[in-house]
Amino acid sequence: MNNFVELENQFYLNVFKRAPFLLTRGKGLYCYDHQGKKYLDFIAGLGVNAFGYGDPEILASLKRQSAKLIHCTNLYYTEPQLTLAQILIRHSCTDKVFFCNSGTEAVEGAIKFARRYGHEKFRSPRHEIISFYNGFHGRTMGGLSATAQRKFHTGFTPLLPGFKYCTFNDFDSVKRALSPKTCAILIEPVQGEGGIYPAEKKFLQQLEQLCRQKDLLLIVDEIQCGLGRTGSLFAYQQYGMKPHLITLAKPLAAGLPIGAVLIQKKVAQFLRPGDHGSTFGGNPLACAIGITVLKKLIFKRIPQKVKALGQYFLKELEVRIGSHPRVKEIRGRGLMIGIELDSEVAPLVSRGYQNGLLIGTAGKNIIRLLPPLIIEKKQVDLFLQKFIMIFLQQFSMAEQR
Ligand SMILES: *Cc1c(COP(=O)(O)O)cnc(C)c1O
Repeated sequence: MNNFVELENQFYLNVFKRAPFLLTRGKGLYCYDHQGKKYLDFIAGLGVNAFGYGDPEILASLKRQSAKLIHCTNLYYTEPQLTLAQILIRHSCTDKVFFCNSGTEAVEGAIKFARRYGHEKFRSPRHEIISFYNGFHGRTMGGLSATAQRKFHTGFTPLLPGFKYCTFNDFDSVKRALSPKTCAILIEPVQGEGGIYPAEKKFLQQLEQLCRQKDLLLIVDEIQCGLGRTGSLFAYQQYGMKPHLITLAKPLAAGLPIGAVLIQKKVAQFLRPGDHGSTFGGNPLACAIGITVLKKLIFKRIPQKVKALGQYFLKELEVRIGSHPRVKEIRGRGLMIGIELDSEVAPLVSRGYQNGLLIGTAGKNIIRLLPPLIIEKKQVDLFLQKFIMIFLQQFSMAEQR
């Protein structure tokens, strides 16, 4: 297919800014386009393809389960759903799981469960949820309302009522936003879409303490930063705190649609048959792959490797371009890395494409890197070699003070 740009213009809703090529296949850490050109992939389907492309164990579980049972609704018990739920609970601080089909749907679930808690636990019902500027929680009306970034709201108002926005890493702003109606605080331990901003340890601990004092629920959105990405199975584990609800999605089924809400008992007790649901959610195929994903992450000690490699990656970036006049900040946790420039990064991303490199963005001025979690030092070195080359081409050495 060569007329993909025209076809998209004619038939597809114009909501995406796409790269100027058509991807046809992937193998390992590389993608190939319609002309057979090869790209080293350091965005990994927005952090979804944690094991790269064509992983034999993922493919085997896909094949095995799809031959047995792809879907049957939640009218019936299925084994992969229960096994995956059990693994997630064993390794987290929560007690129950609900599966859905995407990140935004997981956030919707968490909002509903928090509201239910607020309605049933207290004599005068609570429904307000505090979320943070620069956060991202999805595109459906609940997730969108939780997303405190005006650019996503334009033309879609009125939003769902009951959200209050606070400043990330500013505990006073949270205290000011509290009201007798507050039922939960929703936060990304590392903000992804908003620009790769890690929460401060003290801040998350203060939020946890506040939640304990006021009987509020702490919801961590780990859709992007969870499942090994930041160097621990769950990002919250690096903060010495325990959330009441956790949302997961992106890499959970290695590319098949899935989302999950992990819930503590004290919230789960208020949900009964008929209160929430999903036709596809927790289907045997996505869950069977989810089991393989979790087993690989855990048994191969991938989060530990990500932690060490991420430190090396950040340090090397800092050493090589950290003091370049165009670089404002290099930050991240594990293999979730942001490089903030003083200007738009789009030309750099295009130059990457020309040179066989897929890199992402978060906002206009920030490069976002979410490579597959299975990369090794030599592939970080290969990336650095390519990236530094295009970086210096783009912002020629002459500019350097
Ligand atoms: C991607 C993302 C979402 C939305 O997930 P979708 O699967 O695109 O609906 C929500 N929260 C965070 C933190 C995300 O990174």
